[in-house]
Amino acid sequence: MQWEHLTAPDFAKAVQDTGVCVIAMGVIERHSDHLPLGTDSLNAHAIACQAAEKEPAVVFPPWYFGQIYEARCFPGTVTIRPTLLLELIQGVLDEIGRNGFRKIILLNGHGGNNSLLGFLAQCGLWEEKPYSLYTPTGRLTPEQEQEWLAMAETEVHGHACECETSMSLHNFGQLVKMDQVPEEPAQPLNRMDHLPPTFAAISWYANYPEHYAGDARTASAEKGRALVGWTVDALADYIAAVKADEVVPALKNEFFRRVREEVGQ
Ligand SMILES: [Zn+2]
Repeated sequence: MQWEHLTAPDFAKAVQDTGVCVIAMGVIERHSDHLPLGTDSLNAHAIACQAAEKEPAVVFPPWYFGQIYEARCFPGTVTIRPTLLLELIQGVLDEIGRNGFRKIILLNGHGGNNSLLGFLAQCGLWEEKPYSLYTPTGRLTPEQEQEWLAMAETEVHGHACECETSMSLHNFGQLVKMDQVPEEPAQPLNRMDHLPPTFAAISWYANYPEHYAGDARTASAEKGRALVGWTVDALADYIAAVKADEVVPALKNEFFRRVREEVGQ
């Protein structure tokens, strides 16, 4: 169920019936020259909506604000000041909680959000909230991985690549410009390899200055259907596991009871 499609009474019933809200965290950024700026949000939201049909949950409206400072040199990127971004997302999570959801799934649709989402999850112990946050970290199963390897025709993946372009062709093919796919694949430039293993703000740019990582020439809607199908099934299973989970809320309650009782405040 999509939050913005429900009437107020139907929304209240959906909160009661499901207890779980999924927010798909994307961004607005360049995806080489052939995919739309909203690709991550569009794909993640589509996957969340399809999964929530299989295992009922409420999906928050499409969300476009995340960590994407490394794309500020490209037209159309939308970035938000770091402190405001944290406040904004936490404010939205609090609103989801205020509307009655006790479990929120933070679904990541963008690699550059990994650290941000991890930190947001950790912030759940800063102060007691009425809701628990869950961030799925799983990938394809080993069997699906094998199936994908048999299907895939390229080896370097990462951004606007064969996988992401295939999923986009399946989910919103009308927005994909296959005639604009670069003629040359984008291999990592390894421009920080003179250093010992390092992470820096410029790391992504050092490897992929055109926001393209991989080779989209062999992308197809058929491949996308398989990838999206696996991802939707995995998320539907995850929603079911979150619904059934009583451990995280109980441990959270125990943790904050100890904060109150064992630490002077
Ligand atoms: Zn992307």
